[in-house]
Amino acid sequence: MVELTWLYECSTCRKRFPLKPGLYLCPECARRLGRNDPLAMAVRPLDGVLECVWEGDYDGGADDIPLPVPGEFFPSLPVGNTPLWEPQRLRAETGFPFLFLKDDCCEPSGSFKDRASVLVAAFARQHGIKEIALASTGNAASSMACVGAAAGLDITVFLPKAAPQAKRVQVLQYGAKLVEVDGTYDDALGESLAYTSANGVLSRNTAFNPLTIEGKKTVSFEMCRDLAWALHAAGVDEPAPAFVAPDHVFVPVGDGVIIAGVYKGFEDLVRLGRIRQVPMIWACQAEGSSAIARALEQGGFGPAVPSSTLADSIAVDVPSNGHHALRKLQKYNGRAVIVNDTEILRAQRELAAKSGLFAEPSSSAAWAAFRKVKELLDHEARVVVMLTGSGLKDIAGAMKALAL
Ligand SMILES: *Cc1c(COP(=O)(O)O)cnc(C)c1O
Repeated sequence: MVELTWLYECSTCRKRFPLKPGLYLCPECARRLGRNDPLAMAVRPLDGVLECVWEGDYDGGADDIPLPVPGEFFPSLPVGNTPLWEPQRLRAETGFPFLFLKDDCCEPSGSFKDRASVLVAAFARQHGIKEIALASTGNAASSMACVGAAAGLDITVFLPKAAPQAKRVQVLQYGAKLVEVDGTYDDALGESLAYTSANGVLSRNTAFNPLTIEGKKTVSFEMCRDLAWALHAAGVDEPAPAFVAPDHVFVPVGDGVIIAGVYKGFEDLVRLGRIRQVPMIWACQAEGSSAIARALEQGGFGPAVPSSTLADSIAVDVPSNGHHALRKLQKYNGRAVIVNDTEILRAQRELAAKSGLFAEPSSSAAWAAFRKVKELLDHEARVVVMLTGSGLKDIAGAMKALAL
């Protein structure tokens, strides 16, 4: 197989750089825009976020996904290849016979974040790095701790004291080092960045490390592969294709890293000639944390608004990957949907009670968003709703849904 050359490309100025540990944001854009102070991250979305790109002709098998780290460095835990559900009762009730649920609740640590963590861990092993650190409000931390346990890496996690208990317990069970920060997530972020720059430790902060975006693209490959299978099995007249793109994908959005990764996957699939076009992607946000949806409507980001939603995994004051996610949505005519906490909790319960899939509130926002806009869609459309985290991660939130 021909070796591909992997590079980072700045999503702001398009300059390219070699992939190397210690390079996170585009140094030029970060400096020009006054962003070499890590704490500025808390004030505005990041500029100069790097994307992974390859040069050369990819000649991997039809089932392979081009990734910037060779397979031999990946830790041996089963991340990805998650099921694509065909929820018969929900299909009948909504009138969408080609409705699918992409279930990342069953990832090893219980959330979609494992897709990013596994690529970051592989990169660390490739470069002989022994320790990874990050700040997180919960799922990214428990995910990196989980994957680090399988990979034999030291993981240091900076968590604000108010982080949800289940996620904190996971971090400790996986044997990671927990640094409790007496402050907000933004304080934890500042401490983690100071720690990684002083110690030569790899940072897995979301959007800041480009591999967190690239790792998440694998979901798009799986969706297209498994959709082709499912439609073939259903006798739909497709000439036995290997890949079929969905028409619509509903993605829960906080910092905007998952949605950027989903776009990247579809862009790669188009580049490889496996699908013809990038699907319509719906950015699903909570009313109390809707910066990206508002920016899409207004053409840019306004001042930060403190978040308030019980969907903790999509609650951010400033979406760190906001600029990059917004550019993708604009380029591909993506749409945004805002749902409130009551709609999210109702959706969580409906999903669990009518499909058997118990997702955390943040994920359920995607189901709530589909419910809200479905009459705008063609009922024969192939629709995938992405469910990104297990309901067991946030029992307190789920208890509130039972009271409705
Ligand atoms: C992190 C997370 C999201 C949101 O992803 P962003 O990249 O922050 O937009 C959605 N659902 C779950 C369960 C998450 O952990």
